[in-house]
Amino acid sequence: MNQQFLLPNRPLTVAILGSSGAVGKELLALLEERSFPIERLILLASHRSAGEVQNFCGKKLIVQETTQESFKNVDLVLASAGGSISRKWKDTIKREGAVMIDNSSAYRMDENVPLVVPEVNPADLSKHKGLISNPNCTTILLALVLSPLNRHIPIKRIVVSTYQSASGAGALAMEELEKLSQEVLDGKTPKSKVLPYSLAFNLFLHNSPLQSNNYCEEEMKMVNETRKILGAPELPLTATCVRVPVLRAHSEAVNIEFEKPFPVKEAYEILEFAPGVELLEDFEKNRFPMPQDVTGRDPISVGRIREDISNPNALELWLCGDQIRKGAALNAVQIAELLLPRKS
Ligand code: NAP
Repeated sequence: MNQQFLLPNRPLTVAILGSSGAVGKELLALLEERSFPIERLILLASHRSAGEVQNFCGKKLIVQETTQESFKNVDLVLASAGGSISRKWKDTIKREGAVMIDNSSAYRMDENVPLVVPEVNPADLSKHKGLISNPNCTTILLALVLSPLNRHIPIKRIVVSTYQSASGAGALAMEELEKLSQEVLDGKTPKSKVLPYSLAFNLFLHNSPLQSNNYCEEEMKMVNETRKILGAPELPLTATCVRVPVLRAHSEAVNIEFEKPFPVKEAYEILEFAPGVELLEDFEKNRFPMPQDVTGRDPISVGRIREDISNPNALELWLCGDQIRKGAALNAVQIAELLLPRKS
């Protein structure tokens, strides 16, 4: 990549905006785990979490309230505090000369902002102007599977149903699921505050706002972002997104129609070597990927690939992925790693 698109060639000053949240805490863990070259790490959040202590590489770091001064001399901002906060600080971050990798949806569909899954469209990074968007979590998991299959035989249409865990709505939604599950077990009527309805022993259609076409925002994010990542602006895709009482890791049932029949054996051969993907299945035991298999792990798990009995040109498959990790924090750190100058 051209030098002007890369981060400086020295240990960096990095800020995590939203460091007390579900994604922020995973970012912190991943930066340490992957030995990202850091000189100074700044943990930012709102006044609510200011003063909280977090561990990083054997040191105790204190979370600070985000202010105008927070981004001075910062090289890289990993933002995971929501769209309104990204919008609020974007210009300040740019003025300070830092590169921003944004986990929110604020700029994902902006044509000047690359939307990147490193295993799928890393070349799009070479167009960045200081801001790169991390795609929606369910979209990242889906793109990892669609991209290698699409390169082999072009995709004609995708139908996807998601089974999204509480953690997709943040740290407080995870706490709420645990608390309300206990209340149900204690014979009480659960009352939700974070999610619109109780997820305890229940499920509901994704709670993001409904659009004029009666798809919810999450479903339309999957449609539009998948098209942008795959560079296929007209690709037909329809999605139904459901929130399920799983603490962490999302699942997806995917039907993919191709231009011509896609032999199941070939799909296995391709996905076995696809980056970021693992096959996990045991037909004898009727055992396929589950959220607990992928929790805290990098690869997404795929299984039960089969020919669609209603359409000879289509395949059915099932996937699970830790969406806080590969669906958010890991993807962002991998993008940052691609921006590091190569060691010669
Ligand atoms: P979360 O657990 O609710 O965390 C939100 C974070 O934002 C907290 O650190 C919070 O700090 C901070 N924040 C809130 N208001 C702020 C303000 N005014 N100034 C500075 N910081 C503020 O949410 P999350 O699940 O980590 O999600 C964060 C972002 O990542 C969202 O845009 C979300 O859509 C996106 N994302 C999430 C997932 C996922 O699976 N969870 C996946 C992909 C993308 P306080 O503790 O001080 O309130």
